[in-house]
Amino acid sequence: MLIVLEPEINQEQKNTILNILRDGRCIFREITSTGQTIIGATGDAGHSPEFFENLPGVVKVIPVKTAFKLVSRQLHPEDTRVRIGDVEVGGERIVVIAGPCAVESRQQALAIAREVRNSGAVLFRGGAFKPRTSPYAFQGLGEDGLKILAEVRETVGMPVVTEITTPAQADLIMKYVDVVQIGARNMQNFDLLKCVGRLGKPVILKRGLSATIEEWLMSAEYILSEGNGNVILCERGIRTFEPYTRNTLDLSAIPVIKALTHLPVIIDPSHATGMREKVSPMARAGIAAGADGLMIEVHNDPDRALSDGAQSLYPNQFFQLMRDIYVIAPVVGKQLDFGYLDKTRTARAVKKTTGKEPKAACLGEMGSNSHRACIQYFGSDVTPLSMRSFREIFDSVNSGAADFGIIPLENSLAGSIHENYDLLLEYDFRIIGEITLRIKHDLLCLPGTKIEEIRRVHSHPQVFRQCRQYLDRHPDWDLVFVTDSAQAVKQIREAGDKADAALAGKDAAEIYGMEVLEEGIETNPRNFTRFVVISATPPTNGSRRKSSLVYSTGNQPGALFATLKIFADNGINLVKLESRPIHGKPWEYMFYIDLEGDIESDEFGPVLGRLREKTDFFKILGSY
Ligand code: PEP
Ligand code: MN
Repeated sequence: MLIVLEPEINQEQKNTILNILRDGRCIFREITSTGQTIIGATGDAGHSPEFFENLPGVVKVIPVKTAFKLVSRQLHPEDTRVRIGDVEVGGERIVVIAGPCAVESRQQALAIAREVRNSGAVLFRGGAFKPRTSPYAFQGLGEDGLKILAEVRETVGMPVVTEITTPAQADLIMKYVDVVQIGARNMQNFDLLKCVGRLGKPVILKRGLSATIEEWLMSAEYILSEGNGNVILCERGIRTFEPYTRNTLDLSAIPVIKALTHLPVIIDPSHATGMREKVSPMARAGIAAGADGLMIEVHNDPDRALSDGAQSLYPNQFFQLMRDIYVIAPVVGKQLDFGYLDKTRTARAVKKTTGKEPKAACLGEMGSNSHRACIQYFGSDVTPLSMRSFREIFDSVNSGAADFGIIPLENSLAGSIHENYDLLLEYDFRIIGEITLRIKHDLLCLPGTKIEEIRRVHSHPQVFRQCRQYLDRHPDWDLVFVTDSAQAVKQIREAGDKADAALAGKDAAEIYGMEVLEEGIETNPRNFTRFVVISATPPTNGSRRKSSLVYSTGNQPGALFATLKIFADNGINLVKLESRPIHGKPWEYMFYIDLEGDIESDEFGPVLGRLREKTDFFKILGSY
């Protein structure tokens, strides 16, 4: 039963409810979500739902039919985000956990950790207590293994995950690791579940070899009922009649889980398939199906691994998989971020120096694509600030009102956003990162509106252009231009006229309580926008894979070619070249270049020198 409380309920009224639940020996929990306070109670309180509904301070009572209560989405409609140091599981950034099956030695663990971190993994895994089918197989290094994991965290800078196999290991787990894993074989070890519930550390709960989804969720319920809400579910394959793979990865569990529970779910394709060459295809499928992350076994010498070598990826295979996930994630509205851990450190550094929560200026209201870009880039570490123009974004970074700015630079259908290229030249900021979003447009209306009632559609001109084919089917609609699509949604909500609709994204519908009447109405679904993040003070940490430059050359034959030859001679891959008119100098142009590599690294020193010689004006916009 879920008891939804009035916002103005007083403590005395609340205590009355809690005392009745306590007397009825119910297990209950108070949860605040989307501004509402809810008491979730399980057990027979000895009173009907109507009885509770009539108590002062209660809005309504929702009976939850499922056996699981605390994990149910009914209780907690919003996704739970499990925080592990700088990492957040369950948000819009894909979390990849990688490492060997077992910690075998200090050298092995450190070497693999460095490799997987460079490839974008954010958590390191490694078993120290291995539950093995055979008592004669390698059982793990025990506490020595945990000490190695702690060293990995300190030296490589990744939080670490390991499996607990008995409550007797609780103290050691508390001492050395960040996330505790319940293995498939222990999914219904109820004492162990209660133990990790009490530990309070984030838990990865693997699905049992032959557990139904409901049994799995009931195990999660054990952990939550002990007061630990930080549970991440992990689908790792179940036993079926199919012997070809070690287990059968139940991909359909992902959408089922997403509907039933608010807890995040990740996929372990290593144990699911048991075969190296099957791991990457299933990992890609898992992300496409909506998983929040992956757990992948990686080994630097899998042929000599002490456990699960056959299913462990080589580090370079892991890197290739991560590149694929990087491409797939935006299609399902998420991101794989190679600089995830460095980024949170950047945000934290800002907080440390300014003493304030870091802020990023972006165009439009909450729910705009720029806001989405901000949230997907920084997670919840940075607060988005709504701006009305691109220049306002640059000005607020300039004045220090914002620590970062998020600006769109190009759209895959409409091309470059020239205003921002010009502003990058005018202001002296650095590009510190980039993010690509898939842009989907929906037709949003007030709840209960029928399509025949719509007379006017509000949005940004760019959005109308991207939805041309759909709009052509509704020639009687008037198009109303606004500065950003989320602004349109907000205005319509406030005006409350069913004749008004907006073209905007799903996020805006959720934020402003609007209904999606038609989904995905953009003409071409391959619609991506690349945003960059600007800052007045570039971070010093982090790896840089790309650089952006702007320069002009003299007006003589072969001047541009001479600069391009420098890139060609040095094997530097250009990924973008764009020319823009120089203001006040008709028919003279600036060349904007994006290239692969860190142009400011020592390795590129001579290249930089030669470029400066061959150009009249030269500016590095950033390496990121
Ligand atoms: C593991 O993660 O190494 C492991 C033993 O997994 P599972 O419990 O899924 O078999
Ligand atoms: Mn394993």
